[in-house]
Amino acid sequence: MLVSALKEISANEARVALTPQSARRFAALGLKLKVETAAGLAAGFADEDYAAAGVEIAPNAMAAAKEANLVLKVRAPLISEDKLFHYGQTLLADFQNTAVQRRQTIAALGITCFDLTRIPRISRAQSMDVLSSQTNLAGYKAVLEAFNLLPQTAPLLMTAAGTLAPARVLVLGVGVAGLQAIATAKRLGALVYAHDIRPEVKEQIQSLGARFVDAADQNSLAQRLSQTDVLITTALTSGKPAPKLVSATLLQTMPRGSVAVDLAAAAGGNIEGTRAGRLTDINGVRVLGADNLAAAVPKSASLLLADNFYNFLAGQWNAEQREFRFNFDDDLVRQTCLAQNGRLLSREK
Ligand code: NAD
Repeated sequence: MLVSALKEISANEARVALTPQSARRFAALGLKLKVETAAGLAAGFADEDYAAAGVEIAPNAMAAAKEANLVLKVRAPLISEDKLFHYGQTLLADFQNTAVQRRQTIAALGITCFDLTRIPRISRAQSMDVLSSQTNLAGYKAVLEAFNLLPQTAPLLMTAAGTLAPARVLVLGVGVAGLQAIATAKRLGALVYAHDIRPEVKEQIQSLGARFVDAADQNSLAQRLSQTDVLITTALTSGKPAPKLVSATLLQTMPRGSVAVDLAAAAGGNIEGTRAGRLTDINGVRVLGADNLAAAVPKSASLLLADNFYNFLAGQWNAEQREFRFNFDDDLVRQTCLAQNGRLLSREK
């Protein structure tokens, strides 16, 4: 059985779906591995690192994919990649932003497709949960991006010239990304406040040294924003557009020079006027509409993503038959499978 990984060709995609570390784990199962040359370079993994892990380096995508039983990719294939696939192959990739028609075309190549962004959010699937691992890093990077833009320092600084007050951060939406944003802002020394509609997260917020604040109504939110230098929004409701939490008018209440990062931008945004992948000035506040922020820490993101892939696949490996036997009685397999042997599953149409 051969597992191959391809170099990503989508714009701004520096991640790779196989790392030297995950390759060693696959090899220990008895699998052969191939990677397209330079596939890991943007993430910090050289061909030599793969070769040292026992991975064969293919000179191009076709040479990597041709004989592969299973292909690993970060993103669903672009049209120009269709020629790389043939009947009977299995592909793991992220199909979140792939339109139904395009999914149909990909399935019609004769392949079986899995998308781990659809893995059920249950304890035994945590190690395979691509959304969680990547969102966690997005929460971290959002804070760094915000402070890079902010005209002031994060921690309380006592200098001979005088004292600088710590920056004040407000996190709206405290799931995986929000918790990491809180932890990162705390490590930088900022004062951190947070709000979520789920009251049970109050304890988690406090355990990270932040304060749970009331920001559910417009008055309390305006009050809070008037004392916020960095706003990070992460609120999402699965399958629906992101809830609009902050209007352009409310942003005006933030101090001059304030910065916001909207991690829900790709789902329409929590802040009115946010645009995914853009830095926009909205009423004096610079708002970064985050788009695939995990890819901005490509080494870390690839290490986690590749391990997510390995953890999923290792559970489907039949050591006796020395092949993958996907167990369709298991939710993990059923819910992540988009297409089987060239046919898009009926719920996808
Ligand atoms: P998410 O990305 O869907 O949403 C982010 C947060 O936004 C959530 O906490 C949500 O309550 C909040 N939110 C939604 N609407 C809001 C509003 N109007 N105002 C303020 N906040 C709002 O969330 P997530 O990161 O996927 O995490 C959700 C939960 O699922 C967490 O408890 C997390 O621990 C859990 N989870 C479990 C697994 C697993 O077991 N495999 C994996 C990931 C997450």
